[in-house]
Amino acid sequence: MNPTQPKLTPEMLIPRLGENIVQKGLLTEADLRRALDYQQEQTALGKPCLLGQALMDLNLVARDTLDQVVTEQIIQLRSALQAANRNLEQRVKERTAELNEALQRLSELSQMKANFVANISHELRTPLTHVKGYLELMVTESLGPISSEQRHGLQVSQRAAAKLEGMIDDLIMFSLATRGEMSMKLEQMDLRRLVTLAVKSATSKAEERGVRLTLNAPAELPPVQADPEKIGWVINQLLDNAIKFTAFEGSVTVDLKVEGHNLVQISIADTGIGIPKERLQEVFEAFHQLDGSSTRSYGGTGLGLSLVRQIVEAHGSLLDVQSAEGKGSTFKFPLLAVN
Ligand code: ADP
Repeated sequence: MNPTQPKLTPEMLIPRLGENIVQKGLLTEADLRRALDYQQEQTALGKPCLLGQALMDLNLVARDTLDQVVTEQIIQLRSALQAANRNLEQRVKERTAELNEALQRLSELSQMKANFVANISHELRTPLTHVKGYLELMVTESLGPISSEQRHGLQVSQRAAAKLEGMIDDLIMFSLATRGEMSMKLEQMDLRRLVTLAVKSATSKAEERGVRLTLNAPAELPPVQADPEKIGWVINQLLDNAIKFTAFEGSVTVDLKVEGHNLVQISIADTGIGIPKERLQEVFEAFHQLDGSSTRSYGGTGLGLSLVRQIVEAHGSLLDVQSAEGKGSTFKFPLLAVN
């Protein structure tokens, strides 16, 4: 390519024919201006013409010369386009390699996080066992007599330690689930009994918050095939959320019913704050809370629903959630009945 010529790039989709001819020394600047003026005049007369035509009409450039210049331009453009394509392919290759590297790093980080959570939760458990042990010894006066104020203080500490233990257990369960190591002990179990107990133990919390808690269950329900400990945990978690996210004078309703001929459906519905439609999937991500601000009004670790879904799915079931912002949410899933 002529070094004095501007480098043609595919971005220059309309090559500047006039300048190109001038640069080749086939036309003077003044003649180009004449041709452009002529082109404008023709356009004003309602007879628009291309620059090439104007140059020929004024006998400034011969048709053969013009054809040759245009052909050269097309060839230059084509090779510029090919070079740009090769360049683009190379860039795509490089970016793909970078992205693969980033993905690899991300999965290493995710593994590190899972290991960290697993280690830290076990590390936290050991000192907590000592704290709990000594609290028990003190509250039962095995280490000497205590006053009623001291007993009250110790009992508050015991409740706090139990809560801490629950959170550590959730973390351990989460890290097991993340590593695909959560074990299921499926057996025939009485779901009605389990749900009745869960509702009973959530009653005082609901009352404290002015939330009406109701259980609707038929007198007879077939046993289901499930892990009682894990399903108990799921029900407690869903009940806990339903009560937590429901305002004073709202209600939480638990329904148990037979569906089809071999399923028992459990549903937990609340009249609480609800979840915006576009954020329904987010709530199942671990450590995710819709109110992520530092001044968030509801406590919690953001682990609950992620584990609930994993446990329900480990039973071969699916967790369904229906929610409307400001109106409430319903979480439900079926379990296999054993007739
Ligand atoms: P946590 O309750 O510890 O924050 P979860 O994983 O159980 O964690 O829930 C994640 C988020 O989903 C909650 O922080 C809340 O924003 C939303 N959420 C869960 N249950 C409900 C519910 N019944 N009503 C409204 N929002 C809910």
